[in-house]
Amino acid sequence: MKLIIASNNSGKIKEIKDIFKNKFDEIISMKEAGCNIDVVEDGTTFFENAFKKARTISEFTQSVALSDDSGLVVDALNGAPGIYSARYGGENTNDEKNIDKLLLNMKDVKNRQARFVSCVVLYFPEGKFLSAVGTAEGEILYERKGEGGFGYDPVFYSYELKKSFAEASVEEKNKISHRGKALRLLYKKLKEVINGKV
Ligand code: IMP
Repeated sequence: MKLIIASNNSGKIKEIKDIFKNKFDEIISMKEAGCNIDVVEDGTTFFENAFKKARTISEFTQSVALSDDSGLVVDALNGAPGIYSARYGGENTNDEKNIDKLLLNMKDVKNRQARFVSCVVLYFPEGKFLSAVGTAEGEILYERKGEGGFGYDPVFYSYELKKSFAEASVEEKNKISHRGKALRLLYKKLKEVINGKV
């Protein structure tokens, strides 16, 4: 089966390719598939956004498309930045500006509990789909730690890894990350469908 990743986020694409390597005949990004559509993420949940991205790219390419909508959910900020994680720093934002705003808003906050959430959708051109959710629990650090990863990785201390996501190797992060968990569950569901169990 050939899979098109419905994302332009190079950090995500790298992780998805690594987690799914040897599981599909071919995995390419939508850019590599020549698809330059900008899907507006106007949903109110991770699922709505993931579903829209996967369906749009699948219908455009007539191939199976995989999307991930993910974000950081911080308890003390009532769930923010949540589905707005990529846009948290405002117009023309980037990972650095997003982290700066988060650290500022968490400056004197004692409760630093947070989690990453990933909702993945696999959409088939004939209109069927599968979805799965994964989470990774941790805390927001007071300052950046580590050089790896992307997004909020330098300020997210993972309870499972006992270090920041940016201090972990790609393999270490993928083993316990929200995206790793969601994708492995999705793959299990896909195999059950293929083997006729569902
Ligand atoms: P999306 O493309 O709308 O799903 O945006 C996801 C955003 O959430 C990213 O741009 C990051 O800011 C953040 N995010 C999601 N997953 C991760 C992760 O694994 N590490 C760090 N940040 C993440």
